[in-house]
Amino acid sequence: MSNDRNAELFERAQRVIPGGVNSPVRAFRAVGGTPRFIARAQGPYMFDAEGRRYIDYIGSWGPMILGHGHPAVLEAVQRAATEGFSFGAPTEREIELAEEIASLVPSIEQVRLVSSGTEAAMSAIRLARGATGRPMLVKFEGCYHGHADALLVKGGSGMATFGHPTSAGVPPEVVQHTLVLEYNNVEQIEEAFRLHGAQIACVILEPIAGNMNFVRAQVPFVKRLRELCTQHGALLAFDEVMTGFRVALGGAQSLYAQLIPGFAPDISVFGKVIGGGMPLAAFGASRAVMGLLAPLGPVYQAGTLSGNPVATACGLATLHEIRRPGFFEALASRTRTLADGLAAAGRDAGVPLVTDCEGGMFGFFFGSELPQHYNAVLATDKERFNRFFHAMLDRGVYLAPALYEAGFVSAAHTAEDIDATLLAARAALACG
Ligand code: PMP
Repeated sequence: MSNDRNAELFERAQRVIPGGVNSPVRAFRAVGGTPRFIARAQGPYMFDAEGRRYIDYIGSWGPMILGHGHPAVLEAVQRAATEGFSFGAPTEREIELAEEIASLVPSIEQVRLVSSGTEAAMSAIRLARGATGRPMLVKFEGCYHGHADALLVKGGSGMATFGHPTSAGVPPEVVQHTLVLEYNNVEQIEEAFRLHGAQIACVILEPIAGNMNFVRAQVPFVKRLRELCTQHGALLAFDEVMTGFRVALGGAQSLYAQLIPGFAPDISVFGKVIGGGMPLAAFGASRAVMGLLAPLGPVYQAGTLSGNPVATACGLATLHEIRRPGFFEALASRTRTLADGLAAAGRDAGVPLVTDCEGGMFGFFFGSELPQHYNAVLATDKERFNRFFHAMLDRGVYLAPALYEAGFVSAAHTAEDIDATLLAARAALACG
C-alpha cells in the first residue's frame, strides 16, 4: 500500500523540525522506515495520513486508557475549553483532581500538578534533596524519569561508579551526585547505602520499568529498598508516570502494598493517565514533605500552565471512568488475552517469545526468559523485534517503534481487536 503521503510529510517535517519529530522515539530510528503521520484517532484505532487504520497499542505512550475520543472525556474537555483555556489563578478542578489522586493513592496526602512527567520527576528529586539536605540520588539502569539533567545518566557503569551523562550538554558536575545501579540487584543497593548512606537523598525507580519494555521490580528488591531508605533517612520515590492508574487503580504501589505488609513509597510521580492525553502530571507525598514546597517552604517549584483547566477537566473525566467498578478487571483480562496469545503464537511458530502484563500495560521480548535488568533486555533479539514491528505495522497493528517500550491496551480495544492482533502476529511470525 502507498506510503507516499507519510513520506512526503516526513521529508517536509525534517526541514523544520530536528529529525522531523518533537520526541525522538517517534522518528522510527530504532526500527527504520517512515514514521506514520497520524491524522486522527477514534476508540482503539489511529488513522494515518494515507487514511490507513491501525489498532493502536501505544495510546499516546500510555495516557489513552479509555481509547481515543471517549464521549464523556470529550464533553468535559469541550465544556472546560469554552470556560477558558488558562487563568494563572487557582481553580476548583485542581482541588478535585488532587483530592481524587489522594483518595486513590493512600501514600499521598498532598499533590502538586505540573505539565509533564519530566517536570514532575525533576521536582520530586529537588523536593527529596530539600527535605533531606542531602545531594545524592540513586536511579537504576534502564529506568527513564524524563530529561531533567540530573536524571539523564547512562547506566551500565556498575556499582559505586558515578554517572556519566548520556546526553551531550549535561556537564559531569551536574550528574556527579547521581548513582546508577542495576535494576533488581539487591547487593548493589546494599553496597550503595553502606558506602554513601548518609548522603543519599532519594532512590527513584519505575516499579514496573516500562522504559525497558516491561521489567518488574522483584518483591525482595522493593522490600529491601524500602528498609534501607527508612534506615538511612532517604526518601523512596516511585515514578508511576507510566504505571499510575494504568497497572491498577492505585498504581504499582498498591500491588506491592499487597505483597509487602505496610509498604508505601515516600514520594510518587504521576503523568500520562492522570491527564487523559492532555499535558498534565503530578507529584505527591505526605503533608510534611509537600509542605517544604514554595509558597510554604524553601523548595522552589512553579509553572505558568500548571493545573491547566482544560487538562484537569480531561484528567478528572478520565479518572471518573476508570474508577468504575470492574474497569480494571476487564482491562486486565483483555490485556492478559493479548499477552498470552502472543506467547502462544511464539510457541506455535517455534520463536522464543516471552510476555508479561499487568492491568492495561504489557511487554514482550524475543528471548527465552523475562529479563530482570537492562543488560538482559539488551540481550534479547532486536533484529527480530524490528522485523516483527514492521510486519505488524503492515498488517495494521501499531506497536511501540522500539524494543525498549511497553505496550498499552485501552478499554476501547474489543475482543475482536485482540483476535485480529493475534492473527496478525501469527502471520508476522510466520514470515520470520
Ligand atoms: N517517567 C516515566 C516512567 C516515563 O515513562 C516518562 C515518559 N515516558 C517520564 C517520566 C517523562 O514524562 P514526560 O514525557 O511527560 O516528560
